Amino acid sequence: MRLSRYFLPVLKENPAEAQIVSHRYMLRAGMIKQQAAGIYSWLPLGYKVLRRIERIVHEEQQRAGHIPLLMPTLQPADLWRESGRYDAYGPEMLRLKDRHEREMLYGPTNEEMVTDIFRTHVSSYKDLPLTLYHIQWKFRDETRPRFGVMRGREFLMKDGYNFDLTKEDALHAYNRHMVSYLRTYERMGLTAIPMRAASGPIGGDNTHEFLVLASTGESEVFFDDRVTALKLGNREVDYDDRAEVLGICEEFTSLYARTDETHDEAVFAAVPEAHRKVGRGIEVGQIFYFGTKYSEAMGANVVTADGARVPVEMGSHGIGVSRLLGAIIEASHDDKGIIWPEGVTPFHVGLVNLKQGDSGTDAACEGLYKALKACGLDPLYDDRDERAGAKFATMDLIGLPWRITVGPRGLDKGVVELTSRRTGESEEMSAATAVERIAAIYAAHP
Ligand code: ATP
Ligand code: MG
Repeated sequence: MRLSRYFLPVLKENPAEAQIVSHRYMLRAGMIKQQAAGIYSWLPLGYKVLRRIERIVHEEQQRAGHIPLLMPTLQPADLWRESGRYDAYGPEMLRLKDRHEREMLYGPTNEEMVTDIFRTHVSSYKDLPLTLYHIQWKFRDETRPRFGVMRGREFLMKDGYNFDLTKEDALHAYNRHMVSYLRTYERMGLTAIPMRAASGPIGGDNTHEFLVLASTGESEVFFDDRVTALKLGNREVDYDDRAEVLGICEEFTSLYARTDETHDEAVFAAVPEAHRKVGRGIEVGQIFYFGTKYSEAMGANVVTADGARVPVEMGSHGIGVSRLLGAIIEASHDDKGIIWPEGVTPFHVGLVNLKQGDSGTDAACEGLYKALKACGLDPLYDDRDERAGAKFATMDLIGLPWRITVGPRGLDKGVVELTSRRTGESEEMSAATAVERIAAIYAAHP
């Protein structure tokens, strides 16, 4: 993309309404625009990151064997009467009527609807196990929408639902979700710690939240800091291997890590003092096992091998897709702007022409731009007629992890400069080497 033709409405001033750094940078970098409290338009740069995050979520869900579908945002109230949640949900639910006075709602989650799909089409144990998921907008009329996309009213969520014959099978589905979530967050450059949590209105007795440590997080967290060093890395996981999946879950949940809802001072006191940490965290996901809560209420049964009819065992599993943008920025920024991890960056590399209009630098930049694209990379070429300082400030603010700078002095020596946004370190090299380096970096972040 050529910046001169892009839509990047960068703000010079700090927006007064933004209280935390991710909100401030998302507004300043022209990623989002608020349309009403907690409701945002996703401007091109923000939309690009949102799509990258979605893609990682899809890939990791499907790697774990989960099947994508798409359910609507609007739901009939009657489905929610069956589970009893139409009345239980309260003012967080946005309720509306269509022209025939039929009661509808904008879905805050989809347990009822997916259970309805299941009961319509599945009736035999032979069709299990089954996990369906979608990435869809949700609406919750939060009392205090704030911090930009972190606590919106309309927000994008991945929500998945497992259907299994036995509790044992459903707990394997729970564990599979835990491992797939660990991999999902790691690919986004995040350390998200699974913490034992209390279950909210979704119900059930088995639940973990995934928290990204950040001083601006809304949850208070208590943990053994050795948990932050655990990594899944490039391990090949066989998601059907129950023992292997359980082993990984045990590895990631055996150290103390809890939110204030389940925190236990007595157990925490046993953590060696040097490792005992109290901090704050952002909830980026949650997994639940809730058994037959919805299947019993809504008559979602399956026939077993012995011909018995039993309610299907279920769980639900959510990732805050739009909240993740804020969480990633909270975890990765400096005083100049965002620092995107390679896995989610909106463009792979920024290309800065220090002397726009100079035939030598223009030609070198055009050559680099084409060469990067020929490698399948997505560069952002700042071809505007601006001072170098302004170009650097924009690149630093929008946070592309790599920048190639092209100027007449370097070109005389046959070099361009490759700069890491994270370390600020620059290295001179030929244009061809710079392209190879960038291609090699992203080969590790497909
Ligand atoms: P919270 O405790 O933050 O209100 P929740 O526990 O009610 O969230 P879940 O029902 O677990 O939310 O939804 C799954 C995920 O969706 C959460 O882990 C979070 O990342 C995200 N999420 C929930 N509410 C919002 C919101 N208002 N804005 C953005 N993301 C949200
Ligand atoms: Mg939650």
